[in-house]
Amino acid sequence: MYEFRLKTQSMPPYMNDVQEVVRAFSPYIVINDSADALLEIGTFVSEKGFYFFADCFSGREEYRLPSEGESDDPIEFKRRAKSAAKGYLYSYCNKLTGISLPYGSLTGVRPTAVYYRSIGSYSNIKEHLIKDYRVEPARAELIERVVRSQSGLINRDPLRADVFANIPICPTRCSYCSFISAEYPRVRKLVPAYVEALSGDIESIRHEISEKGYSVGAVYVGGGTPTTLDEEMLSKILPRLNFGTEFTVEAGRPDTVTESKLAVMKASGVTRVSVNPQTFSDETLSRIGRRHTASDFYRAFELARSFGFDINVDLIAGLPGEDFSDFVRSLDIAVGLRPENLTVHSLSLKRGAILKEGGASRRMDGTVKRMCDHSIDKLISAGYEPYYMYRQKNIADGLENVGYALNGKQCRYNIDYMEETTTVLSAGAGAVTKYVYGDEGRIERKSHAKGFEEYLRRAAERTKE
Ligand code: SF4
Repeated sequence: MYEFRLKTQSMPPYMNDVQEVVRAFSPYIVINDSADALLEIGTFVSEKGFYFFADCFSGREEYRLPSEGESDDPIEFKRRAKSAAKGYLYSYCNKLTGISLPYGSLTGVRPTAVYYRSIGSYSNIKEHLIKDYRVEPARAELIERVVRSQSGLINRDPLRADVFANIPICPTRCSYCSFISAEYPRVRKLVPAYVEALSGDIESIRHEISEKGYSVGAVYVGGGTPTTLDEEMLSKILPRLNFGTEFTVEAGRPDTVTESKLAVMKASGVTRVSVNPQTFSDETLSRIGRRHTASDFYRAFELARSFGFDINVDLIAGLPGEDFSDFVRSLDIAVGLRPENLTVHSLSLKRGAILKEGGASRRMDGTVKRMCDHSIDKLISAGYEPYYMYRQKNIADGLENVGYALNGKQCRYNIDYMEETTTVLSAGAGAVTKYVYGDEGRIERKSHAKGFEEYLRRAAERTKE
C-alpha cells in the first residue's frame, strides 16, 4: 500500500478527472494530504511536443500526448489528450502496485459511452478498449454485449421525454445506503404534505408535456422505497403518472409490499415493479439493517406475480460477511424465480453510508470480482442479456452494476437514463430534471431541493406566492 500527497502541475482544466485514475487504485494507493511521499502528475510543453508526466519515489516518467495540431476539432483534441494521459497514468500506477483494474483507465460512470463514441472511428472497438484503455477482455465483451442489447432501443427523438418521481422514504436505513432517504418513523407526519407537494410537481410536468408537445416514453417512481407509503397516499400520486407507457415503481423493500398497494399500482397503469432481496441470507439481511427476511421477499414476489407485473430483482455482490458461495446461492435462487429483469450490483461504499462511517473499507481482494464474473456466465447461460450498466466510486474490486433482461424485457427508462439520450422530467425532493439537446451535444440540469424538509419548505413558499 502506498500513501501519497497528490500534487498536480499545469494540468489544463479538461484534464481535471485524470487524477481519478489514482483514486481508482484505492486502497493500494491512498491519497492523503499529510503523507510524506509525494506523487506529482502534470503536463508540460517542450520543443518536442505536449507531454504528461508522473513522478514519485519510484521514478519519473514522461509521455508524449496528442498535440493540438493533430486534430481539426478542438473538442476531439482535448478528449484524446485526456484519454492518453489517463492511459499513461494507469500504466504508471499499475507498474507501481502490480494491480490491474477490470476497467483499466476508464473511470467514468458509463463505460458504454466510450464505446458509442468510438463507433465509426475504430473497426474493432472491443480491441480499442482493451488496447488503449486497458479494459480487461471480459469487461470489454460485457460492454459490447450491452451495446448490442440496446441496439434499436436508444431513443434519439427530442420530443420524447421520460418522467421520474422521487419518494425518498424508507422503512429503515440499509447500512450500505448513501442515498438521501428519510426513515419513515421520522417523517410519518410530513408524508401528506410531501404527497401534496409532489402532486403539484407532477401537475407542472403534465403541463410542460402538453405545452412542449412531448410524448412520454417511460415513467419511473423511485426513491427510497415508494411503497413505504400506504395505499391511500399512493392512490393520490400514481394515477397522475399514468401515461399508458412502461411504468415502473420501486418496491425495493419486500416488507412494504401488500396486496392493496399492488392493486392501487395495477389500477394506476403500473407495468413493472422492482422487489429487491439483495441477498437470500436472513443473517446478512439483519446485519445490513434491512429488517425483512427472505420469506418476506418470496411472499412479495408471488404477490407481484399474481398481478401480472414485470418484475426486477436486485442482488448485491460483496455484502458484509458474504463469501462467494453465499452470493452463488442467492443468484441461483433469484434466477430460479425467472424475474424479467435481474440487476447485479457490486457493493459501493460511499460517504454517508453507515458501513462507511463505521470504518468499513472497499473490498478489493478479488472475491467480488469472482462473484460478478460468475453472475455474467450464469445469467447469460440462463437466457438473460446484460442491457444497461453503470459504475460508481469506491465500488468493490473496481467493478460495475449490470441490469440483465429476458428477451424483449429491457426497461426503457434504465437505458434512457444511463445513456443520457432522453430528456427526463423529474418531480420530488432531490430529483433532477435533465433536458437532453442531442443535436448540440448538451444536457441542461435543473435540481429540486435535496432534503425532505427543505423540499417541503420551498413547496410551501411557492404556494404562498
Ligand atoms: S432501500 Fe434503498 S434507498 Fe432505502 S435505505 Fe435501503 S438502499 Fe437506501
